[in-house]
Amino acid sequence: MRVHGHTTQQPTLIAAAALALMLVWAPSAGAQAPADIQKAVDAAYAKYKTLQEGKNADYIPALAQVDPNLFGIAVITADGKVYAAGDLKTEVSIQSISKVFTAARVIQELGLDSIAQQIGVDATGARFNSITAVEVVRTVAGSGAPEMNPLVNAGAISATSMVKGLTKDEVWTKIIGTHNDFAGRPLTVLQDVYKSESDTNQRNQAIGALMLAYGYIKANWQQAVDLYTRQCSIGVNAKDLATMAATLAFGGKNPVTGRQVMDPDKVPGLLAIMATAGLYDDSGKWLYRTGLPAKSGVGGGIIAVSPGKFGIAVISPPLDDAGNSVRAQQAIADISNALGGNPYKVQPK
Ligand code: GLN
Repeated sequence: MRVHGHTTQQPTLIAAAALALMLVWAPSAGAQAPADIQKAVDAAYAKYKTLQEGKNADYIPALAQVDPNLFGIAVITADGKVYAAGDLKTEVSIQSISKVFTAARVIQELGLDSIAQQIGVDATGARFNSITAVEVVRTVAGSGAPEMNPLVNAGAISATSMVKGLTKDEVWTKIIGTHNDFAGRPLTVLQDVYKSESDTNQRNQAIGALMLAYGYIKANWQQAVDLYTRQCSIGVNAKDLATMAATLAFGGKNPVTGRQVMDPDKVPGLLAIMATAGLYDDSGKWLYRTGLPAKSGVGGGIIAVSPGKFGIAVISPPLDDAGNSVRAQQAIADISNALGGNPYKVQPK
């Protein structure tokens, strides 16, 4: 780079000085003292521990068996530090939160346009396993303006079908590999959940068949539905989920392992679909309340991302009518509020 009247080093020096200034002036993730972050986490845990609203999902029989009192909170900041309360060890099935990471894989491999062109990035406004939504938007599939998104079942099964591989095993290795990279450790499938959902997932099979019929899935919808079911059964604890959220909060770099697992320029698109559809038909309410891109799963987990500040996850199985964990929504909203997590909120100077 050459600027009039300067040698090549000078602009570099000026840039370095400007960067140093920005680091001093910009409100950073470290703006909160560690003790304050822990205090916010502890306060939310104490406040919602005894909240008894909601009910475990039971349309997948194994999920009804999970202890409804399970409650774990984890927040991870840029330095990889974990602030936690409650149960950090017990694993639940990741369920729909996996949709984010399979979409991440597709976006990483095929680019942001792939998802936008083959599935769409618009909210359906319908329940996560809506068949009506597939019917309503099908008229535009193939016309260059698909109106689905990869965070509801129809779009997620389609996204799973877009992961490239010569064999089913090869596709699966990529899907679980991406989840492992984001979580920072090797995850495994909870076999009882996988079996339970495989035995009862006729509705998702119907969705998969429809997505093939309408051109969103190009081939082998049965494989896509099975791998989707398997990815939903991956076992995660609150720390795993918070690490995954934090990796998205810090430009695709896992702050715990230090590994870059997704290109930074691909992350904003993924966060945008989380903001649009992460909590299904309640995504608007959630965004209005918190401003945070987030994703829920019927296993009781929710992840949320405050870009550049923190990743947060809460596990608590009882769900509201939209299929989102009741305690997780409350705890995340409180903690984010205490930490200034809403990216739309700017203090006038
Ligand atoms: N595996 C679940 C399903 O397809 C995931 C749903 C969810 O978490 N919302 O029904």
